[in-house]
Amino acid sequence: MSWEDNVRKVVPYVAGEQPKDQDVIKLNTNENPYPPSPKVAAVIQGFDCDILRRYPDSDVSALVDALAERHGLDREQVFVGVGSDDVLAMSFLTFFQGKKPILFPDITYSFYDVWADLYRIPYEQQPLDETFRIKKEDYFRENGGIVIANPNAPTGVASKRSVLEEIVGANPDSVVVIDEAYVDFGGESCVPLIEKYDNLLVVQTFSKSRSMAGMRIGYAMGSRKLIGCLNDVKFAFNSYTMGAVAIAAGVASVEDEAYFAETTARVVATRERTKRELARLGFVFPDAKTNFIFAAHRSVPAQEIFDALRGNRMYVRHWNKPRIADHLRISIGTDEEMDKVLDFLESYLNGR
Ligand code: PMP
Repeated sequence: MSWEDNVRKVVPYVAGEQPKDQDVIKLNTNENPYPPSPKVAAVIQGFDCDILRRYPDSDVSALVDALAERHGLDREQVFVGVGSDDVLAMSFLTFFQGKKPILFPDITYSFYDVWADLYRIPYEQQPLDETFRIKKEDYFRENGGIVIANPNAPTGVASKRSVLEEIVGANPDSVVVIDEAYVDFGGESCVPLIEKYDNLLVVQTFSKSRSMAGMRIGYAMGSRKLIGCLNDVKFAFNSYTMGAVAIAAGVASVEDEAYFAETTARVVATRERTKRELARLGFVFPDAKTNFIFAAHRSVPAQEIFDALRGNRMYVRHWNKPRIADHLRISIGTDEEMDKVLDFLESYLNGR
């Protein structure tokens, strides 16, 4: 017997590469190409460091209140964490304690199976159809919980709220988690369903549409009961998840709705233009409602295009996994960045 027999064994999630080199056109982790709101910058620049002597507000009241107001909810319906990864991990720990398997799609955010393994939660992956859509009937069976990213990652495909409502309604005895990391780029949010279903948890993040991946802020919205359960587990784990700077910066972001609307609209406009150009270059892809496009070329293997882009300091994401190995996930950058990538692709594909 060695201490190694007592170690919790788990295969970790592999995050997208964060190159030290600033010259790279970085379209591999779905970050926002625009800076956070100038109000966020002002709050951070003016931050009184003396405040750091004290522990932060463990209830994160200022940010919870700002988010509750933004979404038309009560503060008892909002839970904040260190990025949506933290909120999702906490949700798996809190809500998926049953013996029945939890359900999520076979192609989705690749952290779900990692958390399930970490917490020893049984799970069954439900195959998306050939067009990467979820089949709602797959979720009308016995289960210990359901997780659906909407829009989905890495496919970019959005499900209609009415379809997700059917799934939530058919599973009153399970918690259904809808991961809305990308919803602000064109998805239909399930937040309006929260008052109707006490088993629905909607998770969002500041990392994409609010340009604050580096600050680590995510949040969940749901019934008072669900949020109460999450808080019980959080306060049994770590009372002070959110630092004082993150709380202040998060509030400033929520208070600048105009900037948020303007930058997300800009990303969406660039995405729509990029779709037209990629189609012209021979790529096929499901209609993306996200800040990325999941594209396969009609004739050139994804690995080859990935290597060629990388050789020219243009990073996208590629998974050597069944069903998706012929696809590249290309995050939406600035118009200038996308032009460089599209120009490169055009000359590469024509010259080969
Ligand atoms: N959900 C999905 C579907 C994602 O793609 C990501 C980003 N990797 C996250 C959640 C987590 O994002 P964050 O922890 O930065 O909020």
